[in-house]
Amino acid sequence: MPHWTIAAATTTTTTSSSSNPFNSVTDFFKSPTFQFVTYMGVFFVIALWLACAYWVFKDARRRVEDPIILVVCVLTGLVFGPLGLFIYTIVRPAELIVDKREREMEMEMMAQRLGDAARCSFCKTPVRDDYLVCPTCGHRLRSTCNSCGKPLEPSWRLCPYCEADVLGPMTPAYDRA
Ligand SMILES: [Zn+2]
Ligand SMILES: [Zn+2]
Repeated sequence: MPHWTIAAATTTTTTSSSSNPFNSVTDFFKSPTFQFVTYMGVFFVIALWLACAYWVFKDARRRVEDPIILVVCVLTGLVFGPLGLFIYTIVRPAELIVDKREREMEMEMMAQRLGDAARCSFCKTPVRDDYLVCPTCGHRLRSTCNSCGKPLEPSWRLCPYCEADVLGPMTPAYDRA
């Protein structure tokens, strides 16, 4: 092949390459820079999605007791990403499990206190340990110490405040739950 033919061919290629305006764009898409940017973009999106799912998991664990609902919450974050996170924050339970347990325990204790309270054997009104008579019906609940005047339990044989003997046993006039 004569020397000038190669030169001409090279020139033609160069000319056609620079005359095509899409070539530079195509070259850019094939360039390592573009591929790097693409990978970074994909990586960023995956990281964002995983972060959303993780955040939903962390938050839902403190609010949701049912494991199935917990899985549904995490899947919502995993499938819908930021949108799933947004939906989750709208529908999530407002109360934390810890707060709920605390509230339930408090209510239980309150119910226990009320249940344990002595009641007037006549009208069933809850009465306190130091009441001498029922405030509702006037029924006598306790006698008082003859020596110091403090209220006495019916079972006491000795006044715990002044050590005086309790004169005559008294029948309980109130009921314990
Ligand atoms: Zn009463
Ligand atoms: Zn006494």
